[in-house]
Amino acid sequence: MGENPIVTNAPPTGPGTPATPGGIDGLATVPHWIGGGAYGGAPERTGEVYDPATGRVTKRVAFASPADVDAAVHSAAEAFATWRNASLTRRSKVLFAFRELLNARTADLAAIVTAEHGKVLSDATGEVARALEVVEFACGIPHLQKGGYSESVSTKVDSYSIRQPLGVVAVISPFNFPTMVPCWFFPIAIAAGNAVILKPSEKDPSAANWMAEVWAEAGLPAGVFNVVHGDKVAVDALLEHPQVKAVSFVGSTPIARYVYERGTAHGKRVQALGGAKNHMVVLPDADLGLAADAAVNAGFGSAGERCMAISVLVAVGPVADPLIEGIVERMDGLTVGDGRRACDMGPLVTAAHRDKVAAYLDAGVASGAELVVDGRGIRVDGDPGGFWLGPTLFDKVTPEMSIYTDEIFGPVLSVVRVPTYDDALELVNANPYGNGTAIFTNDGGAVRRYQNEVEVGMVGVNVPIPVPMAYYSFGGWKASLFGDSHAHGMEGVHFYTRGKVVTSRWLDPDHGGINLGFPQSI
Ligand code: NAD
Repeated sequence: MGENPIVTNAPPTGPGTPATPGGIDGLATVPHWIGGGAYGGAPERTGEVYDPATGRVTKRVAFASPADVDAAVHSAAEAFATWRNASLTRRSKVLFAFRELLNARTADLAAIVTAEHGKVLSDATGEVARALEVVEFACGIPHLQKGGYSESVSTKVDSYSIRQPLGVVAVISPFNFPTMVPCWFFPIAIAAGNAVILKPSEKDPSAANWMAEVWAEAGLPAGVFNVVHGDKVAVDALLEHPQVKAVSFVGSTPIARYVYERGTAHGKRVQALGGAKNHMVVLPDADLGLAADAAVNAGFGSAGERCMAISVLVAVGPVADPLIEGIVERMDGLTVGDGRRACDMGPLVTAAHRDKVAAYLDAGVASGAELVVDGRGIRVDGDPGGFWLGPTLFDKVTPEMSIYTDEIFGPVLSVVRVPTYDDALELVNANPYGNGTAIFTNDGGAVRRYQNEVEVGMVGVNVPIPVPMAYYSFGGWKASLFGDSHAHGMEGVHFYTRGKVVTSRWLDPDHGGINLGFPQSI
């Protein structure tokens, strides 16, 4: 295959068993997936993959070297040469087949997500369902990639537009949605005729290999979808490789900024989605029961490890006390434990992340916030070695405290009290992040003002911040997104294609003669 032969000396793996057999310590290694199969021999560098609910290392994951990335790019470039000319019918048939397999095997994929991320099974199942929506959107590629045609733009001259794929594109994804976030990008990229290299988070890598195998089963030609695992070394190699034309990144804001700057400096089209600090504003006329439900669901779902989680509750006027009372009542009933059991909330992704989040509890108290519910030392339905931290609630938080300024990315909800709607708006707009926000009220005029005035990319009205449907686009403003394109929807189709306009005249007896003037419509 091209200049860099693909070494597939690892035994073939079937769906659900995405790792190579154990090494000397008995742990299997999750391999790269290049050119339609597991790639490479024993990697020089590996990372550890944990089961967050037990705290035990369950696998290793290969870390790609620049040479591994180069092999993936060559494989993708070779596959692109053919795939870009596959008919729309062929491409959409593969997409439909992928959709059917993913749908039928949702439970298998959700189990992999829970085992490596820790989120409870129902949440992992929901993640796969949201991933499926983008695949379903991409199945409509024959319509989505259509251009326009104008007859007689000039006398006997026609003009039409086409959208063509870019080539090899990279997707670099975070740990918190190992299925949904990559699926915001690669189904559309592949449907549009590109070849993809996915670099998933090294913390939960197996979902990517599982999906690679399902693509192969769906009939996608080898090399159109590749997976390289690893860290900064792999990311930098992708950002600098001359044959990688575009990069879609999702992760924390500092890395998103870095990826955007380095990728564009190397001539690539880049969309880099960053971190978040999402505010939920509750006005005095809101349904407080609804608002309390929403705050708990969006604050503690997936242990707060969602870019759409609510982390700041902005209580306007007199709502704070009754709202907090309702929230505490609901928090009392939450169960925390192993995501494979019937629990509401699972562990955090790693011990280091759990400790970092827990440190914010001390910081909040030290800075004068009121710790209403302390998530440390909670009863857990799971292994004592798991990375546990229970739901936590702070009241009387102020904008200079680190629990307000920092993206904590854990089950910590902060209440900021403000006197008026205008104060709430000012607070939200002064925040450097602009991913999502929600407003709870029964006042249509206030909602209309908020959606008009708030400097945030995604807004929920009486719903905690929802991920927009696949046919709309996902993305924040300010420090939550670097680049011009949001993910999926028509912005996704445009990101993965380049426009071209053709103006044509077919010869007829009337040739028109010589005219050196600037071409104009006649
Ligand atoms: P992260 O930034 O640590 O990692 C994201 C990706 O970047 C991973 O693939 C990782 O391997 C890679 N990476 C890590 N360090 C790197 C470095 N120094 N150089 C180059 N690449 C590097 O993020 P995470 O902890 O995996 O995910 C959580 C973050 O992602 C949160 O900040 C969350 O808000 C954000 N997120 C944002 C959205 C969104 O839509 N805006 C969605 C999901 C998650």
